[in-house]
Amino acid sequence: MDPHFLDELIAVLGADNVLTLPEDLLCYAYDAASDLPSTPPDVVVTPWDSTQVAAVVKLAAASKIPLYTRGAGTNLSGGTIPLRQGIVLSMLNMDKILEIDAENLTARVQAGTVIQSLLDAAEPYGLLYPPDPGTVKTATMGGSAAECSGGLRGLKYGVTKDYILGMEIVTADGDIISLGGKTVKNVSGYNLPQLFVGSEGTLGIITELLVKLVPIPEASQAMLAVFMDLDKAADAIRAIIARKIIPATLEIMDNITIRTVEDFKKIGLPVDAEAILLVEVDGIRGAVDQEAARVKEVLAECGATAIRVAADAAERDQLWEARRSALPALVRSRPTTILEDATVPRSKIPEMIRAIRAIAAKHQIQIGTFGHAGDGNLHPTILTDIQDADEMRRVRLAIDEIFATALELGGTLSGEHGIGLAKAGYMESQFGKPGMDLMKKIKRALDPDNILNPGKIFVDL
Ligand SMILES: Cc1cc2nc3c(=O)[nH]c(=O)nc-3n(C[C@H](O)[C@H](O)[C@H](O)COP(=O)(O)OP(=O)(O)OC[C@H]3O[C@@H](n4cnc5c(N)ncnc54)[C@H](O)[C@@H]3O)c2cc1C
Repeated sequence: MDPHFLDELIAVLGADNVLTLPEDLLCYAYDAASDLPSTPPDVVVTPWDSTQVAAVVKLAAASKIPLYTRGAGTNLSGGTIPLRQGIVLSMLNMDKILEIDAENLTARVQAGTVIQSLLDAAEPYGLLYPPDPGTVKTATMGGSAAECSGGLRGLKYGVTKDYILGMEIVTADGDIISLGGKTVKNVSGYNLPQLFVGSEGTLGIITELLVKLVPIPEASQAMLAVFMDLDKAADAIRAIIARKIIPATLEIMDNITIRTVEDFKKIGLPVDAEAILLVEVDGIRGAVDQEAARVKEVLAECGATAIRVAADAAERDQLWEARRSALPALVRSRPTTILEDATVPRSKIPEMIRAIRAIAAKHQIQIGTFGHAGDGNLHPTILTDIQDADEMRRVRLAIDEIFATALELGGTLSGEHGIGLAKAGYMESQFGKPGMDLMKKIKRALDPDNILNPGKIFVDL
């Protein structure tokens, strides 16, 4: 990189916030997507406020240098890999909670705020920010808005997009613009904040977020149900919702995942079960008791062979330990883990799980499946070894087939992990050429020189 350009960055940010040592650059070459090639950037900058972000973008725009915004780097789709070198803009210094407004039930935070910090700040007010990706303790608010993260509470509470009221962004020209606001109703002009939700750093840089909060539910009740037959588990998912009960959480784990978790944690899971469902209802105490009783009834009617209801908070934690351990347990078994998130309509879950099993058998690879059953959002988790070229070839074929099956069943390439680099090549199969052309027109209008996170979402522009 031109030393003069580096001097300009240092003039804006100070030398401590401009990293160029090879060992620093290496740390920003990759993210949580373990099967993608890593590329170190030319420089990493760590701004402290929106004005510094805007100044960096103006310098990058003037020299047409690629710029990759990075939160905690926990995305699973290669979204922060600096594919074409250039500048990584780390948002982690911008981590201030600017306001908790308990009257309007909103919070305003800088984009580098870790989600858990917002949860901790809102709790004393009796308020909750519901989107809860598995990485709630590390992922940033900006990164989760740019991915439109989901999580365990998606079924009842929705996902990140449902909580964004407004934001401050820095455009590809380096302008700072405030979008949206605190009003519950707001239909003035285009819904611009939502354009940036899920845009994966390709349209602008989110520097602040204004989000909705909800009251913390008074009570909750968790239970685990065992099924010897996958179809019966799927029927129970359908039946719970058909009875007009919307659990906060409704999760599924398949037999491979159950066995792997049990091997890892020894928590007494039924290793011969085809599936377990983990269900939690929450709300006002009386209503929760009634809903929990009805869920239990439905699970039994649908053929659950055992149902364990958590008697207290400690037992609830024990039940959730099974779900929390799913990924760590699977990850232990092979050197490389590829976590997908193909998503189908809820009613298609048994077909999807069966297809994943058939695909694994056909290509002789290991896939454990768990996920947010209530949302149709499954996580087929491929356990493999990136050093084994032949196995990786079979893994690629299997991934192609998993995505094709999800689309055939009326689903989508990604329920919550985003497209990034990993799924860019599949986008046209979901959106067709006209759909891709429309998205490209938006991208070109906002970022004509393609400096913002180039190579992500689109294979070509
Ligand atoms: C073990 C594990 C469990 C996970 N569980 C879940 C889950 O349950 N649900 C779920 O949805 N995801 C999950 N994820 C994926 C990931 O944690 C989420 O997508 C997370 O919200 C990303 O936040 P981040 O700060 O790490 O973003 P990063 O990975 O740093 O960035 C993600 C994308 O956002 C862009 N970006 C980052 N910050 C900004 C900004 N300020 N402005 C504009 N663009 C920006 C980046 O360029 C990139 O494209 C999981 C990941 C792991 C490793």
